[in-house]
Amino acid sequence: MKENLNPFAIAQAQLDEAAVALHLDPDMHAFLREPMREFHFTLPVRMDDGRTRTFKGFRVQYNDARGPAKGGIRFHPDETIDTVRALAAWMTWKTAVADVPLGGGKGGVICNPREMSRGELERLSRAYMRAVSRYVGLTQDVPAPDVNTNPQIMAWMLDEYEVLSGHREPGVITGKPLELGGSAGRSPATAMGGLYTIRETAQILGINLAEATCAIQGYGNVGSFTHRLAHDVFDMKTVAVSDEFGGIYGANGLAPDVVAAHLRRHGKVVGCPGTEEISNQELLELDVDILIPAAIENQLTSLNADRVKAKIVAELANGPTTPEADNILNEMGVYIIPDFLCNAGGVTVSYFEMVQNSYQFYWDKDLINTRLDQKMTTAFHAVHNMAKERQVDTRVAAYMVAVNRVAEAVRLRGWV
Ligand code: NAD
Repeated sequence: MKENLNPFAIAQAQLDEAAVALHLDPDMHAFLREPMREFHFTLPVRMDDGRTRTFKGFRVQYNDARGPAKGGIRFHPDETIDTVRALAAWMTWKTAVADVPLGGGKGGVICNPREMSRGELERLSRAYMRAVSRYVGLTQDVPAPDVNTNPQIMAWMLDEYEVLSGHREPGVITGKPLELGGSAGRSPATAMGGLYTIRETAQILGINLAEATCAIQGYGNVGSFTHRLAHDVFDMKTVAVSDEFGGIYGANGLAPDVVAAHLRRHGKVVGCPGTEEISNQELLELDVDILIPAAIENQLTSLNADRVKAKIVAELANGPTTPEADNILNEMGVYIIPDFLCNAGGVTVSYFEMVQNSYQFYWDKDLINTRLDQKMTTAFHAVHNMAKERQVDTRVAAYMVAVNRVAEAVRLRGWV
C-alpha cells in the first residue's frame, strides 16, 4: 500500500497512536484531532508590473487551551491547508512539551518568494497581516517566522498591525529584528535548542560529541545555525550539508565560514571549494553518528529509512519522518529526537521574546541560552523517562507528555 504523505493525516495518525497508549477519553481524543479555528484569506497584491495577483493565505489556531495560539508563517509554492493544520497541531504539542504557557497555531501563503521582488514581498506580508490582524494579538495568537519568512518580514507585519491598531504592541509577533523588540538569541534558538537535546541523547548513548560526525539536510535558518553552533559550541564535525539544490560532503568536516561565504556568493551550497557533490538522498544515508533533517516534511519514508546509518536522528525540521519510516527506524534501534521536542527551542525563545516585550526589559544572550538550556533539558528528560517507563518509542512518549498537558487544560476549562 502506498504511504499517505498528507502531513495532517500523519499528525492525526501520530495522535491516534498516543491516544491508545494514554487510554485517552474518546471525546477528548475526537476534540484534539481537529483544529479549533481556521481562516482562509484571498490576498490581492499589486505586483511590480502594475498587475494585481491574487494569493491564498491561511491561519490555523489549532488549540489555545494552554494559552494564546503560537506558530510561524510559511511562504511556499506547495503550501496547503493540510500542511498548515499539521504544523499547527505540532505547535500545540510543542508548546506543551516545552511547557510554555501557549497554544498552537500556524499560518501560510501559497507563493514563491524566490520569484518575487522585495517590494512584492513587503506588499504580500502587509496584505497577510491586514487579513489576519483582527484574529491575532498578544492574548489571542502570536505569529513568527518559518520557512521563507524572516525578521524583515516580521518587521513589515508588525508595522502593518501597529498602523491598523494605532498603538505599539511588539509582542504581537516574534522573531522580530532586535531593533524592534526582537530577542537576543532568537535566530539561532531552534538550532541551539536542538543541540541541547542532541547533547543529552549523546550522553545517554555514550557518544562523545567531540568525536562524532553529523550530516545536516537543509541550510536555511535552522540548518546553517546548527552547522555553526555544532562546530563552535559542541566541537562536532559536520561532514555533509545540503539545500534544495543538492548537497556537499567533506570527510574532514565542513567549515561553517567557508560554506556560508559560498552560499552568500552563489545562492546554494553545491560547488563549495574542497567538497564533493552529493544528492539529498545520499546525505540521508551517510555513515554518520547524527543525522539532522532541517528542511521540509517527508524526507525519511518507507523507501529509504532502512538505509539510514545514523545512531541519532535529530528532527529539527517539522514532520521529516513518516509513520512507516518511524517504525523502521525504531526497529533498527535508532534514537529519534522527535520534531516537536527537538525543534522547540525556537518557540521557547519566542516565548521569552513575548515576556520581554510585555515587561519592556531585555535579557542578554547568555541569560537566554541558560534559560533555553533549562527548558530543553527538562523537556528532553520528561520525554526520555516517559519512553523508558511506558516502554514506548520517543515520538509516542513526546505525544504522551504533551497530550496529557493539553488535555488537562481542556478538562479544567470544562470544554470536554
Ligand atoms: P528556511 O527557509 O530558512 O530554510 C529551508 C532550507 O531547506 C533551505 O536551505 C532550503 O534550500 C532547504 N530545502 C527546501 N526544500 C528542500 C528539499 N526538498 N531538500 C533539501 N533541502 C531543501 O527554513 P527554516 O526556518 O530553516 O526551517 C527548516 C525546517 O525547520 C522547517 O521544517 C521548519 O518548519 C522547521 N522549524 C523552523 C523553526 C525556525 O525557528 N525557523 C522552528 C521550528 C521548526
